[in-house]
Amino acid sequence: MLRAAALRVTRPRLAVLGAVHAHPHADTDSIIGAVRNDLPEVSHQAVYDSLHTLTAAGLVRRIQPLGSVARYESRVGDNHHHVVCRSCGAIADVDCAVGHAPCLTASDDHGFVIDEAEVIYWGLCSDCSAVRSS
Ligand SMILES: [Zn+2]
Ligand SMILES: [Zn+2]
Repeated sequence: MLRAAALRVTRPRLAVLGAVHAHPHADTDSIIGAVRNDLPEVSHQAVYDSLHTLTAAGLVRRIQPLGSVARYESRVGDNHHHVVCRSCGAIADVDCAVGHAPCLTASDDHGFVIDEAEVIYWGLCSDCSAVRSS
């Protein structure tokens, strides 16, 4: 995967990619914790740098819902959406509602060439809505 993206293979990059794969939607602190299971000596900076490089290369997708820290996932290139819990911040994947790249036909594109629509669904996760109704 790293080689296909013409990236130099380094141990921090491999470990970060593995951690993002194992922990979808994890924030940077969680990823640092997971990477240190493999590479106890890895620095914060090495993890930040690896996340930045992997994101720029398109191997990792960065999402940042309003009010949340940045989260990372390895599910890239399929234009899936996210549902975010307003109460606890839990995030889950939501496939496109109407097939491929649904919202790209803007009612008025203002002359832009549009290639992505970012959709975030907000609500309460099942745990939080159970707490509220009990
Ligand atoms: Zn919740
Ligand atoms: Zn996702």
